[in-house]
Amino acid sequence: MKTEVTNWGKYPIKKAELIAPSSPSGFIIPSGSHPFIARGMGRCYGDSALSEGIVSTLNWNKLLHFSPESGLLICESGVTFEDIIRVFLPKGFFLPVTPGTKFITVGGAIASDIHGKNHHSEGTFSKHVEWLEILTPQGNRARCSRSENAELFNATCGGMGLTGIITQVAFRLKKVETAYIRQKTVKAKNLDHLLDLFEENKDYTYSVSWADCLSKGNKLGRGILYLGEHASLLELPEKLRRHPFKIHNPGKLSVPFDFPSFALNPLTVKAFNFLYYHKAPGRPFENVVHYDPYFYPLDAILHWNRIYGKRGFTQYQFVIPMEGGREGMKKILGEIADSGQGSFLAVLKVFGKEEARHLLFPSEGYTLALDFPVSEKVFRLLDRLDAMVTDLGGKIYLTKDVRLKSETFRNMYPVDEFKPFMDTRVFASEQSERLFT
Ligand SMILES: Cc1cc2nc3c(=O)[nH]c(=O)nc-3n(C[C@H](O)[C@H](O)[C@H](O)COP(=O)(O)OP(=O)(O)OC[C@H]3O[C@@H](n4cnc5c(N)ncnc54)[C@H](O)[C@@H]3O)c2cc1C
Repeated sequence: MKTEVTNWGKYPIKKAELIAPSSPSGFIIPSGSHPFIARGMGRCYGDSALSEGIVSTLNWNKLLHFSPESGLLICESGVTFEDIIRVFLPKGFFLPVTPGTKFITVGGAIASDIHGKNHHSEGTFSKHVEWLEILTPQGNRARCSRSENAELFNATCGGMGLTGIITQVAFRLKKVETAYIRQKTVKAKNLDHLLDLFEENKDYTYSVSWADCLSKGNKLGRGILYLGEHASLLELPEKLRRHPFKIHNPGKLSVPFDFPSFALNPLTVKAFNFLYYHKAPGRPFENVVHYDPYFYPLDAILHWNRIYGKRGFTQYQFVIPMEGGREGMKKILGEIADSGQGSFLAVLKVFGKEEARHLLFPSEGYTLALDFPVSEKVFRLLDRLDAMVTDLGGKIYLTKDVRLKSETFRNMYPVDEFKPFMDTRVFASEQSERLFT
């Protein structure tokens, strides 16, 4: 029987054979007429976790071993970041790298080799992985690490599920004294100011900014920088010290239905950007905040992806090198502002040094992520942005992509280097069919 499946952007919708094996041990890929792809929480935005056949890992949710001395956790690949926080934060451990949602699996974190607000200081998720076990296209279970099957390890971290299904992972959690973040908020009047602030504050573990992508002229790229450090017990206000490891509550707010398409238009987005910018205090501001609103502000509203309406949305995230990056970012922001298609969620970060490998996304430079409702007009804008990003020597993030063209993809990633790790008869996604042909 076929089931309709869609990822976080709600576009496209795929009718697929969806299987959810109860355990990874003994599981083999059903032989048949179509390939499969692994799927965790489906928090990638586009079509990377969609295929004719889908293997959901959500039943592979066992924690297998934990060492409080080293922080090393061994678990099945369908364990979610939310599960990990609930179990290990009260013991004084937190995720080494986390994206902007806790509703993802460990397998998905490795397949996209996710980055967080600490990329410049602590790298991508795979940097904290000791080893992983994968079910390969040949039907073998291979254990791989930096010293054992190293090439398969390198291709799998960021490999978008195309090298096989990750079944088990060993990675290190980091020790924290509390569940709170010491946050500093600084306002920037334009892009140059914002990028200078990143540079001045690069010793902070966490840094991320929101940029107003609809402002123009000398306000182009104005934004708000959020810096953070894990707070020590002594840094907590008295009343928080009694429960220093308070866990997040389940989200109570929910978007109950798809919004009508007129609800989000250039005017509402412009109004949002104006209010958001002006609500932040003019002077740098320090406070202590809980990890949940700091790392996962959008998780508080369940099904927030419905605000883009039935047609769905896509997130466009690119990175461009530092050299020529400031001017390049200005041109790209200018193109977006002129198009009037701006997004109210525009997240700008600076990535640290990273050795290029296979389909890994982060590389040293400036990265911007923007949400757009799906439409022909938006896709034409994104094609223009692709050309600008390619000219600047940049690339786009596959876990957010749903429309990149294969010739552009080839200019961004070393396709021939990665291909030997694929067997598209066994593992392929809608995205790989589009990009690798
Ligand atoms: C609100 C929000 C904020 C986000 N913020 C960030 C961010 O700051 N940084 C960032 O890097 N990403 C971010 N993301 C993207 C998200 O972290 C990635 O898409 C992540 O891979 C999703 O994990 P998942 O378990 O939902 O995987 P899915 O979406 O189900 O799958 C994603 C990819 O991983 C593969 N995969 C999943 N499980 C396995 C497995 N066991 N073995 C092999 N391959 C597998 C799939 O085939 C697919 O290619 C964000 C997403 C959302 C919705």
